[in-house]
Amino acid sequence: APAAAAATEEPIQPPVDVKYTKLLINGNFVDAASGKTFATVDPRTGDVIAHVAEGDAEDVNRAVAAARRAFDEGPWPRMTAYERCRVLLRFADLIEQHADEIAALETWDGGKTLEQTTGTEVPMVARYMRYYGGWADKIHGLVVPADGPHHVQVLHEPIGVAGQIIPWNFPLLMFAWKVGPALACGNAVVLKTAEQTPLSALFVASLLHEAGLPEGVLNVVSGFGPTAGAALSSHMGVDKLAFTGSTGTGKIVLELAARSNLKPVTLELGGKSPFIVMDDADVDQAVELAHRALFFNQGQCCCAGSRTFVHERVYDEFVEKAKARALQRVVGDPFRRGVEQGPQIDGEQFKKILRYVKSGVDSGATLVAGGDRAGSRGFYIQPTVFADVEDEMKIAQDEIFGPVQSILKFSTVEEVVLRANATPYGLAAGVFTQRLDAANTLARALRVGTVWVNTYDVFDAAVPFGGYKMSGVGREKGIYSLRNYLQTKAVVTPIKDAAW
Ligand code: ADP
Repeated sequence: APAAAAATEEPIQPPVDVKYTKLLINGNFVDAASGKTFATVDPRTGDVIAHVAEGDAEDVNRAVAAARRAFDEGPWPRMTAYERCRVLLRFADLIEQHADEIAALETWDGGKTLEQTTGTEVPMVARYMRYYGGWADKIHGLVVPADGPHHVQVLHEPIGVAGQIIPWNFPLLMFAWKVGPALACGNAVVLKTAEQTPLSALFVASLLHEAGLPEGVLNVVSGFGPTAGAALSSHMGVDKLAFTGSTGTGKIVLELAARSNLKPVTLELGGKSPFIVMDDADVDQAVELAHRALFFNQGQCCCAGSRTFVHERVYDEFVEKAKARALQRVVGDPFRRGVEQGPQIDGEQFKKILRYVKSGVDSGATLVAGGDRAGSRGFYIQPTVFADVEDEMKIAQDEIFGPVQSILKFSTVEEVVLRANATPYGLAAGVFTQRLDAANTLARALRVGTVWVNTYDVFDAAVPFGGYKMSGVGREKGIYSLRNYLQTKAVVTPIKDAAW
């Protein structure tokens, strides 16, 4: 199939140095107990950016011990909520002061465009921190009217030591979604970053200490899932586990949590989100929105609109225009201005995506754009569009996590509701229509955690995010995220003179 042109120039030298490569335990950057390191790789070239300390079970033990001390004996849960608020607000200021450096690091390690990290992601991290900082001194309990002469208070206390495991597709934003609410509620944290993208979290964690976070309150362990991640999930000293990643790994960590100490677990997992274009749609606008819903972040979004359902009346025109839009997509060095799509995260994802493309062709879908690697090195993939996709094809069922759009045809609202819901996932959906009744029907009938109507990928700090079905357990962001990090305690005392 025809393909968008990819830039083939020499990679641009990233405008940043790597300062932090060690584990952050008890306020200090330290080597792994084993002395081992692993390479983190530039997805533009496959070259090593830096060797990073590789945390394992023993390092997780050290980090949990530090977090336990910080929580059980340290000042953090005991200081005023306003002081915790001030630390988070100062942290947000420091993020803004170092925005260029942080954005460059995120682009280098993860292949995201610099326009995206500078323009959206780093500012959002500061925004989230101010949002959670604002909550710190507004968390209060209840007084409950019980039967009988009792004064009943419900206290909301921090849950303790939170273990948090994050993925590589949004390293900084996932740091913010996880660490922000945990700290706002007065907890201590051990964060396990993804092995593909360890760098930005270490940098911002150093800023959080500069902002006044006491030692041991946030510990960052770089390392691999089956070692460091599993040790954290099954640790007896961890009171709560929050995980974002694939559904398969989510099941593993939930089981580890259950087998160890029954720590409560929140999970934000995979998706196969429908993007539904009704027959009244302005086709040009629908094509653009559906394009962004899928291709944003190289297609590496848990909520990517990866099943584009188009009404039969506008289907042919939509496919032609979706093809044209994909062919226009600018693929190249994410540090270059005007580039829309950088490389995929690593060789494993790159190969997996190309296997899915082959499966799409083999199963009889029509490849209308792309379908191959872009350029000759690194992990770039051509923006790819399949038309005539059928529900039972693998590319319509599995999460591809790459720049591969699948377009499916439908004829009625009832039909598209059934087909859109016929998946084990339930993370998000897009609905594109001017008809209020169609929008309302779809918004209520779709079994998903987020419905975007005539928009997509709007991520506000105050809006809850999470999945139905096998897309997850619990919600992050907004007021809902606080519940994940609080214990509820009822305190009952008799009242002598019930009349008063
Ligand atoms: P992906 O396939 O996109 O890398 P994963 O779900 O495997 O997604 O990874 C998300 C996070 O989960 C990463 O930090 C990874 O290291 C971690 N992880 C992977 N396997 C395990 C495991 N067995 N136990 C705990 N964490 C894991």
